Parts: sequence; structure tokens; C-alpha cells
Amino acid sequence: MTQTGAPQTQTTQTRAQLHTQLLIGGQLVAGEGQLLDILNPATGEIILQLPEASADQVRAAVEAAERAFPAWAQTTPKDRGALLLALADRIDAEAETFARLEAENCGKPYPAVLADELPAISDTFRYFAGAARTLQGSVAGEYLAGHTSFIRRDPIGVVASIAPWNYPLMMAAWKLAPVLAAGNTAVLKPSEQTPLTTLHLARILAELFPAGVVNIVTGVGETTGAALISHPRVRMVSLTGDVSTGRRVLEAATATVKRTHLELGGKAPVLVFGDADIEAAVEGIKVFGYYNAGQDCTAACRVYAQQGIYEKFVAALTEAVGSIKVGSQHESGTEMGPLISARQRDRVASFVERARTSSHIEITTGGRVRPGSGFFYEPTVVAGARQDDEIVRREVFGPVVSVTPFSTTEQAVTWANDSEYGLASSVWTGDVGTAMQVSSQLQYGCTWVNTHFMLVNEMPHGGLKSSGYGKDMSLYALEDYTVVRHVMIKH
Ligand code: NAD
Repeated sequence: MTQTGAPQTQTTQTRAQLHTQLLIGGQLVAGEGQLLDILNPATGEIILQLPEASADQVRAAVEAAERAFPAWAQTTPKDRGALLLALADRIDAEAETFARLEAENCGKPYPAVLADELPAISDTFRYFAGAARTLQGSVAGEYLAGHTSFIRRDPIGVVASIAPWNYPLMMAAWKLAPVLAAGNTAVLKPSEQTPLTTLHLARILAELFPAGVVNIVTGVGETTGAALISHPRVRMVSLTGDVSTGRRVLEAATATVKRTHLELGGKAPVLVFGDADIEAAVEGIKVFGYYNAGQDCTAACRVYAQQGIYEKFVAALTEAVGSIKVGSQHESGTEMGPLISARQRDRVASFVERARTSSHIEITTGGRVRPGSGFFYEPTVVAGARQDDEIVRREVFGPVVSVTPFSTTEQAVTWANDSEYGLASSVWTGDVGTAMQVSSQLQYGCTWVNTHFMLVNEMPHGGLKSSGYGKDMSLYALEDYTVVRHVMIKH
């Protein structure tokens, strides 16, 4: 982060595809704020320096969204849906470019972004294109003689959406699709670390949507983000980010009583019972604990394995995790990339170093920063962890899975629920009764049985406790971005 001025691009293979302009009131414009370094996490090199939005530009974006709101709110769901479908088609048509940009900016393996993320992203826009046409109020009726009452679900106004760095384009889709489908206008701020795919999307949004309906501003949380969430004309703030950022959003929301939608962190418990298919559980945790280098709020990171199978499970998991191929975006066979930044890598390393000092803990594989360039950390298993250990309680947000032995079902459920977080969980068992009983007792927004991490646009994603509230995806997200209104007609 340095001086103000024009962007100086560095040589990279993606340079020719970069779009660096913000979208404000239908115009693609250069940021006028401080320059930010945008890095390739696999090499640590600067891809380019990008100016963030100035405070004036944030204001202009909110004002543009406010001006656009009345007309956009009056469009039919069919017309809004048509634009979302067109957007989905454009994303599909440019999927390889989007995937290349996302891979470069986040360090993710390119084939995984293309095969896993891009289809889910365009599907989010398609889902909400259809869902917009299905929103229902409750029945109309006469609740006072001579009067008919009915319920409307109407848009809220300008929604400020703030996204994190772990799935930048997917989070943009989760935030924009339901907001726009419901008839709101939006100002979206991607993470300052990963703006490239959102800026590429801005160019398409500028072509498709009426001026001001969607606005994109970039910049760091303390400047652009803070200006956005505290603007009095923003009626709702939607954040996916850290718990501490969620608190800041809540503080900022008090001044003008804004609605809030918070998707915060997680520390997903994974309960592996003695009767589980151990091979499937190991394979599942190998995939769902280390996908995106574990930088996932639902990552299968806090395993409880039942005594009896514990030793066998740890041995099998250690072998499986030790075989994960770590590499850069385009290296053949790469299963896991680097962490997003040197800071994040060092944070992850410090968690493991502190865990290592406990005599009851054994790091059975990994546990080291990978030497050389880039922000790589080895896929790591921390065995023998206890419920009160920091590694079990705090969100690491990296490729580190702890394993804790448990004896009874009651103990496993108690420990699983003994967390400040409440986003995702999974139960691995061969017994349907155990699956039903335990999933009914877990205090998490989602519980998977004999799998983990699987998301579909028809089903909600969101948490309890410090993981926040409000749902992404599904009709529940559409409801979150609308207000219930009562209209009464005197006969
Ligand atoms: P972060 O909270 O640091 O940043 C998220 C976004 O908030 C960024 O765009 C950032 O610029 C912005 N921001 C930061 N401070 C702000 C402020 N004062 N005012 C306004 N905006 C501000 O989080 P991150 O490091 O980008 O992402 C990692 C975190 O996100 C993890 O804790 C993870 O669990 C969480 N996360 C949650 C979900 C979910 O669905 N629950 C999904 C992905 C990530």
C-alpha cells in the first residue's frame, strides 16, 4: 500500500486480461484512493498495484444506488430474472478467464476453480433468476370487518455487500444474486486482497444492468469498507468476514438502524463414530479439511474420533493428508495451493507452533512452512488435541485439522457444541439412528451426514452464535433481502 496515482502493472501471464476499473453509476472509472498491492500468493509477486475507491467515490456509489432503486424496485421479477440469466451466461462464456484470474489472485489450483467454483457461481445467478419469481406473501384476508389485509415482500433499498478473500467471485455471486433478484440495488466491496474477478465482473455488469443498480468499489476495510457501512443511505449491510469485522458492522449499523446480514467464521466439528466407514471419513476429511488450503469457514477442521477407532483413524488420516500434493495454480496434479498472504501463513504456523508445545499433542504430518517463494504451509494433522486446547477452540483458517478422541455420544455432542461458532458440522456413522439423534442435537446452521462441505443453491448456508445470522443461497436469502409489509384496504 503506497502513494496515490495511476496503476503500474507488473508482468504476469494474466496482465492482458485485467480489468481494474470500479463501477459507479453505470460508469467504469479508475479508483482515486491509495494504491494497493495485489499479489500472487504462489510466488509472493505483485500482479499489479490497484488504486482503491476514494471516500468521494464510495459516496457516489451509494448515491447512484439510491437513485437507481425506485425504478429497479418496480421492475418485474421476470425482467430482473432475465438480466441475472444473461449474467450467468456471460460468466459461463468467460469461465476460463474468470478461473485464471481467481487462481492467480488467490493461489488456488486452476482446474479446481474452473470445475468446482465457476459452475456453482453461474448457477447462483440462475437459481435466483428463477427464485425471484416465486416469492410469496401469506394469504390475503379480512381480519377487520370491511377491510382486506395482505402481505407484500418488498426490497429494502441500497444494500452494501462486503466480501472476503477466500472465494471472491462466489461470495460476489452469493451477495449480488439475491439482493438484485429481490429488487434492491447494491454496492459491493470485494476484499482488498482479491478484487480481480469482481472487477472483471464489473465490466459485464456495466453492460447488462441499468446505471446504478450494481456498483463495485474496492479498498481496505478501514477506509472504503468503513465509509460504505457507515453511509446513512445504506439500508442494509451484508458481510462475509471475520467475527471482529462483524462487530464493526453492527456498531456502524446502530447510527441509522441498518439491517445486517452476517456470515462470520466457523470451527466445524466432525464427529467420526466407531461404526463409521473409516475410509470414507478419511477421504472426506482429506478433501473437505484441506480444500482451498483450509481457508473455508466450513472446513472439516475439528475432528472428534471415537475411542476404539481413534488410532486407526489417525494413522489413516495422517497417511492421506501426507499425500496431498501442494503446488502452484497450474502445476499438474496440484490439490492444495498456498495461503492467501504471508500474514495468514504465519498466523497458521503460530497456531501449530503453540500446539506443538503441549506434551499430549503430536503433529503426525506437516507442521511446517514450505521453504521457497509463495505463502505455502504443509497440510497438517494435530493428533491428541484436547477440548480446551487453542487448536480445538480457535479458527485457524488454514490446512490444519485437529483430532480429539471421545468415548460416548453425549461427550461428542457436548464437545462439538462447546464452541463460540455455529456454522457447519458433520456426523460420520453407519447407524441412521445415531445420525438422526446427533444431527438434531448439534447447534450448527448445517449438519452433513457421511459427507461435509456440500452446498447447493436451493439450500441455505449460514450460522448461529458468533458465526452470525442471515442465510446465503436458497429462498431464505431472498427473504433476508426483503421486508414484510402489510397493506390494508378499506372496502
Ligand atoms: P475480514 O473480516 O478481515 O474481511 C472481510 C471483508 O470485510 C473484507 O472485504 C474487508 O475489507 C472488510 N472489512 C474489514 N474491516 C472492515 C471495516 N472496519 N469496515 C468495513 N469492512 C471491513 O475477513 P477475511 O480475512 O477477508 O476472511 C476470512 C474470515 O471470513 C474468516 O474468519 C472466515 O471464517 C470468514 N468467512 C466466513 C464465511 C461464512 O459464510 N460464514 C465465508 C467465508 C469466510
